[in-house]
Amino acid sequence: MIYIGCHLSVSGGFAAMGETMLSLGGNTFAYFTRNPRGGKTKDLIPADADALNALLAKAHFGPTVAHGSYTMNLCAANEQTRRNALDMLEKDLCRMAYFPGSLYNFHPGSHTGQGTETGIQLIADALNAVLTPDTKTTVLLETMAGKGSEVGGTFEELRAIIDRVEQKEKLGVCFDTCHVWDAGYDLVHDLDGVLTQFDRVIGLDRLLAVHFNDSKNDCGSHKDRHEKLGLGFLGADAMRRLALHPALQEKPFVLETPNELDGYKQEIHTVLQWLGEA
Ligand code: FE
Ligand code: FE
Ligand code: ZN
Repeated sequence: MIYIGCHLSVSGGFAAMGETMLSLGGNTFAYFTRNPRGGKTKDLIPADADALNALLAKAHFGPTVAHGSYTMNLCAANEQTRRNALDMLEKDLCRMAYFPGSLYNFHPGSHTGQGTETGIQLIADALNAVLTPDTKTTVLLETMAGKGSEVGGTFEELRAIIDRVEQKEKLGVCFDTCHVWDAGYDLVHDLDGVLTQFDRVIGLDRLLAVHFNDSKNDCGSHKDRHEKLGLGFLGADAMRRLALHPALQEKPFVLETPNELDGYKQEIHTVLQWLGEA
């Protein structure tokens, strides 16, 4: 089995997200730790965090996956942008301590003209500055589509970041199916081959979460435009094979293509049918 859920808004509080996901029939979810355009975090009320943790345990949820801000660019050329990003990462990880067992994923960054090698080094430097042996949260680098100057559009780039981080046991990878496909890995015709390649380059033991998105574009387009489950170039057959693949069992799968709650409920139901659980 896999855990299935979708992206939710934290605006109603933390425990409310757990209640919403129960009503949608899922058993994991993701949310932005702060406004995706950057800016402030939602105030955290410890009693609200405790209520969510109790609900997650009682309903046997899989790990939830908090998402760092899109504006958090640890490898920007601009030094102030980098400093702001490091500050966001530090504060996000501080709050994550309220949610033991939850994962935290972020986009590695865009090198904005400095080159991939410099980008990789700056991202690793930032992770080395914040991760300590006491860090409670596992931090996931998201696989990227390789749009513009994005770092992380190949498995090798993610591996290079991991190689340079001291606290490697705090690091994992979030496998975004739209991004991996757009980056040029053929999940439709060679799913086994792509996962074997992931295992060889990074190691499947680091693959700890899946962003379960279809794509509006063809393999290798480097576009990063998500499509609803089964309606894009990946299609229902390939998405179904992903959900059932032995290498991806026990992982949280998060639908993050924007949808109404009713639409998400339907998509979750479809996945549960694939799994033979509905
Ligand atoms: Fe993402
Ligand atoms: Fe994603
Ligand atoms: Zn995306």
